[in-house]
Amino acid sequence: MAERAGPVPELDVELVSGFEFHCRPDCGLCCYAEPRVTAPERARLLQIVPELELRGSGPDRYLAARPDGGACQLLRDQRCRAHDARPHPCREFPLVAHVGERLQATVVLSCPGIDLAGLGAARSNSAPVSETLASELAALRARVDAGTARRCADAARRRRRVVRALTEDGRWEDERSIRQRLSAALPRPTNDDFPIEDPPSPDDGLERLPLFYDRRASPIALAAGLGGWELWELSPSGGTRRSWGVVPPPERRPGTTPEASELLDRYLGYWVRRDALFGFVLGEMVDAPDDAPVGDWVARELRAIGATVLARADVRARAFRGEVPQLTEDDVADGIRATDQDLLDRPTLGDRL
Ligand code: SF4
Ligand code: SF4
Repeated sequence: MAERAGPVPELDVELVSGFEFHCRPDCGLCCYAEPRVTAPERARLLQIVPELELRGSGPDRYLAARPDGGACQLLRDQRCRAHDARPHPCREFPLVAHVGERLQATVVLSCPGIDLAGLGAARSNSAPVSETLASELAALRARVDAGTARRCADAARRRRRVVRALTEDGRWEDERSIRQRLSAALPRPTNDDFPIEDPPSPDDGLERLPLFYDRRASPIALAAGLGGWELWELSPSGGTRRSWGVVPPPERRPGTTPEASELLDRYLGYWVRRDALFGFVLGEMVDAPDDAPVGDWVARELRAIGATVLARADVRARAFRGEVPQLTEDDVADGIRATDQDLLDRPTLGDRL
């Protein structure tokens, strides 16, 4: 049963401040997707593209992508055919908001148009958001309404239930104190975190695999190959153009330059401040209880995130450059971009706006 809604929530923009965004015209990565379309958006799109193909039924309809992981049907020559009528996920990207106890906007760092220098920025809710993200932020804000208030109330109810159960088990710890502790001493991945989980199965379908944009080869999907990770260059019309080869995952934590380690720390620090991290961890704890308190689960999850970034950075660097003695800052940046969207897409106790 939906909980009675409180007042319409304020959008917390602290995690958006400090980032610069300049869309790369040669990229198109965010169009390898099936964006959700509302009924009014559908009507506008149909005026421009009468042959529009939609998936799903009811309120949740999606613009169908071309087969086998191809780009959205409206992408032509790296341009949107219906740019003025594009649906809300496209207007808002690379911002996304997590609907939990509060409504928190965050930046999708898989977008290569986002400058990762923003990861080191001092933040506050009153700090101005860059003009380069103003239209995305306005589009996000325009969808905050009484329905959002209801979803926040529902998420808060689910969270209260979990907090009650964990408190009874003596495992609950306040998020603020966990954040303070982990920000002061970020848990870096260790050799025990390698080899990381198997690469995603190609049976998941190209459209479900982690993607990243490569400057030379355009969008790349990461999948399981023969004995390792395979890198597939995607074709906008569907399927793959070519394989960049299969690379075994690293068995130990790859070496990193000091600048690369610092960038990884800044990324993990960004995760500590994302509500989506706690929403994911609490959801996992409900399904797979063990004796560890919340702070230990969060620290473990941060190490897993760091290990995934380093493993993908390493695989990607070796596929394009051969053996690399140490991962550089650019390599780790690529690992972050090949990972962030996946992690944000995971289910949490809350929801996405
Ligand atoms: S992923 Fe980012 S840079 Fe690439 S097309 Fe989309 S918004 Fe632009
Ligand atoms: S509607 Fe346009 S902007 Fe959105 S995914 Fe499709 S081509 Fe890209």
